[in-house]
Order: sequence, then structure tokens, then C-alpha cells
Amino acid sequence: MVPAIRVVTMNDRPIRHDGEYVLYWMTAFRRPTWNFSLERAVEWAQELGKPLVIFEALRVGYPWASDRLHTFILQGMADHAAWFQGRPVTYVPYIEKEARQGSGLLEALAGRASVVVTDDFPCFFLPRMIQAASAKIDVLMEKVDSNGLLPFRAADRVFLRAFDFRRFLQRELSPHLLQRPEPDPLFAKKLPKPIPLDPTIAKRWPMADQRSFEDIGSLVTTLPIDHSVGVGAISGGFAQGVATMKAFIDKRLDRYADDRSEPSMEGSSGLSAYLHFGQMSVHQILAEIAEKESWSPQLIGSRRSGQRDGWWQMSPAAESFLDELITWREVGFNMCWQRDDYDQFSSLPEWAKDTLQKHAKDKRPSVYTLTQLDDADTHDALWNAAQNQIRREGRMHNYLRMLWGKKILEWSRRPEEALDAMIELNNKYGLDGRNPNSYSGIFWVLGRYDRAWGPERPIFGTIRYMSSDNTARKFDVKPYLKRYA
Ligand SMILES: Cc1cc2nc3c(=O)[nH]c(=O)nc-3n(C[C@H](O)[C@H](O)[C@H](O)COP(=O)(O)OP(=O)(O)OC[C@H]3O[C@@H](n4cnc5c(N)ncnc54)[C@H](O)[C@@H]3O)c2cc1C
Repeated sequence: MVPAIRVVTMNDRPIRHDGEYVLYWMTAFRRPTWNFSLERAVEWAQELGKPLVIFEALRVGYPWASDRLHTFILQGMADHAAWFQGRPVTYVPYIEKEARQGSGLLEALAGRASVVVTDDFPCFFLPRMIQAASAKIDVLMEKVDSNGLLPFRAADRVFLRAFDFRRFLQRELSPHLLQRPEPDPLFAKKLPKPIPLDPTIAKRWPMADQRSFEDIGSLVTTLPIDHSVGVGAISGGFAQGVATMKAFIDKRLDRYADDRSEPSMEGSSGLSAYLHFGQMSVHQILAEIAEKESWSPQLIGSRRSGQRDGWWQMSPAAESFLDELITWREVGFNMCWQRDDYDQFSSLPEWAKDTLQKHAKDKRPSVYTLTQLDDADTHDALWNAAQNQIRREGRMHNYLRMLWGKKILEWSRRPEEALDAMIELNNKYGLDGRNPNSYSGIFWVLGRYDRAWGPERPIFGTIRYMSSDNTARKFDVKPYLKRYA
């Protein structure tokens, strides 16, 4: 059963007992497996004896909509169309062809539903969209948190340091590890026979058909979205996400701690885009690693010191990976869930704001406009290469992402301008952008989750400093430069 701590009632409307179906509105957890929201909708369908309708939409008017983001999502929708075929549900994929064409569709579907279940994601436009929808929906609506291992509501405060969050996890996470989502929430479930979509709704809002998914490349070129941001280097969809995860765990996890920071190696998992679009679940990743490590939640260590090593009681490589995947990923979800200003300069710690303001008028060695940054047109070859990578591929090596941000701070007229530039470029080009991790990373550049570092320097003050020269001394960056120059 879906844990109550993950479910929030969004309105005070009753269940419509004579409704035709239970509606799952899939918005953030775009996957048919390991998904508490879908599981909750299945529970309702069984309890009320109603068929299940799964509605997944792709609109054109969201910020940074582009060929790259649309293609990744559409590849996921194609997977869903295939997966749900032959299963006891009605899958309703809707692709908006022009702005606001899809307005009213959710209300129309909800108007015939007994209950509506949707996803609870704490970032980007989604919280506002769900809140606004709940006011218009005339039937009980719930949102479900299937984001991480720790339910948001299990933490009562914002954590300003990863160390404190890790210590909190070490105290509180264990019982939640025993409550994982079902790998396939439809498996062996008896649900009433699926029903076709109401013809008046189907006529006004035609559903995507098989042909739309057969030639996604042609479809996206017809949509009013940003065509200058081309398709990324990896394909979307939960099936590809699972394949990427398995390849990483089988072949690269053992060397993760050593290889992750080497710019010329693909040492990390490459999972962030799948995680961002909800095409991959952290519960599934943990289950896969647990199998490889012969681990079970009962083995978790009793140490509660906040230290990284030795808590999971797994190999050092697995512990190092899980620290990124769980501690670092979920501390950002905690921030976005608790603070509406998670993307504003004002949310930085006081010491960071003070030191940045003190040095805001310092002379910059070089100043670049957003267009110059976007075009990778700076004097710094390593920075340009990193920017080229994200522009072309939709991803950037983690270590260089830190350097990339630090240089934008150094080359912007003011720290607030640096923040705007980082948000714009990261969210426009990164397949994994627009995510709580985006704001963790960008704000880390400006001092979030970090401490003051000496010596005090121009522009940075006591914010941690990084330089391309040091990076080039530390790592062999030549192959990376060759590839992305
Ligand atoms: C300026 C800047 C911007 C960033 N923007 C994003 C972003 O838009 N989206 C994004 O997912 N990550 C972002 N990060 C964090 C990190 O760079 C990426 O998560 C990582 O590079 C993704 O590659 P991977 O999936 O192979 O990571 P792996 O090393 O394989 O890690 C596995 C997962 O753990 C999480 N993770 C790893 N490192 C971090 C981290 N430092 N902080 C938070 N979570 C982490 C991610 O979910 C990642 O997919 C940013 C970091 C910086 C410094």
C-alpha cells in the first residue's frame, strides 16, 4: 500500500461514486514501474471497482520547450503506448500542436472521473500547475510523492549542509526503505475492463496515435517550440533509462569513485535526465545495486555521525554513488519542497550573500554577455568545450559543471547576473535541467551547501574558487578539449 506520508489531498471535493473511471494524470513520474502515484491510482481503481485511465500530456508552452526536451519526453510516451497496450488500462497520450490547444482537456477528463491522482514534484512550473488544476477539478484529487527514498514530509526543516541532511537520513531513512513502490503496479491486478475515451472528448482533443511516435523527429519540427536546441546525445524513455542503469551498475559502478571526476572518461551513471523526467526511479536503482551487493535494508549501519563512508554497509564504490544519488539529490528536493524562493538569490546563506555583495563591484578580468556565453565565445578553451558539450549533447561532465558555474560568476557584472545566466543556460540546454538538482548545483557555485573558504579573493570573496588551469593540472583534459573544442 502507498504510504500515507506520500499522499496529499489537494481539494475538499468528494469521491464521485458514479464516475466512469479513476484518472491518473502523469506529470512528473513519467514511468509505468516503481511509481507510487500509479500504484495509488490502481489502489483507488480496485477499491471503487472502476477502470483506470492514464492521461499523459505534452504541452508546447512551458519554459525552454525545445526539440531536445520534447523528443526525450515523446520517446518516453512511445514507450508507454507500447507498455500499456494489452494491460488493463486506457492510456491517453496527448500532444499539443499549438499553444493552449490542450486547455480544458484535464477538466473534461476529470469531469467523468471518480478520483484524480497526480504527481507531487517540487520544482519548475509543476507545483503551480497542480495547485491551479486542483481548484478547477470537481472531484477528489490527490498528489503523490514518488521522488526519492525519503518522503518530503518526513523532514521537518530545510537542511543547509549535506552533512546535516546525511545525519538526518542516517537516523530516519531506515523505515522508509522498507516501503518501496511495486516494480509493476499493474502486475496480477484485477481491474475492470478498460473503457474507450468519450467520443466528444476524443473529437475535440485528438489523442496521439501510433504514427506520432513512429516519426518523432518530423513531429517536433512542426511544433511551435525552440528548434535551435537540437536533439540530445541520449534517447529518452524508461526502457532506455533501465538499460543505462544496468550498463552502469554492471560495468562502471565499481570504478565510480575513481573515474567520476575525470573529464575524459564516462565514469558516472548518465542517469540524471531519466531521473529528471521521472523515467527512472531511485527505488529501482537501489534495488538493482542491492542485488549486486547482496544487500538488504536490515544491513544498514547504526552509525549516525553524518560521515559518508560505512553507513550503507556496501562496497566503497556503491556507497560513493549512493551518496550522490540519495544525499545530494534529495537534499535539493528538500530545499525546493520547503522554500518557494529556492531559485532566488535571496535563498543563499547570509554569509554567501554578504561576501558576494561585498565584492559585487570588484573589477572583473573579463565580462561576457549571455549571448557570448551561450555561443561558447570566451577566451577559456576548457570552459568553451564544456559549454559546447551541453549545447550539443544536453549534458555536461560533473566536475566541469562546477568549473563552468564558477567562471560564469567571475565573468558576470554582478552575482545576480551570473545566477540568471547559469539558470538560463543550464535549463535551456541540459536534459536534466529544471530540476531541484539544477538549483542545488547552480546555487552551490554561489555558496549553498558550502562553507567559507580562504583566502578572501576579488569577486568571489570567501566563496570557493576554481580555475581552469588547476583543473587542467589535476586531470588530463586534452581528450575532452579535442572532442568538444
Ligand atoms: C552548476 C551545476 C549545475 C548542475 N545542474 C544539474 C541539473 O540541472 N540537473 C542535475 O540532475 N544535476 C545537476 N548538477 C549536479 C551534477 O552535475 C549532475 O547531477 C551529474 O553530473 C549528472 O550526471 P550523472 O547522472 O552521470 O551523475 P552520477 O554521478 O552518476 O550521479 C547519479 C545521480 O546522483 C545525483 N547527483 C549526482 N551529483 C549530484 C550533485 N552534485 N548534486 C545533486 N545531485 C547529484 C543526480 O541525480 C545523478 O543523476 C549540477 C551541478 C552543477 C555544479
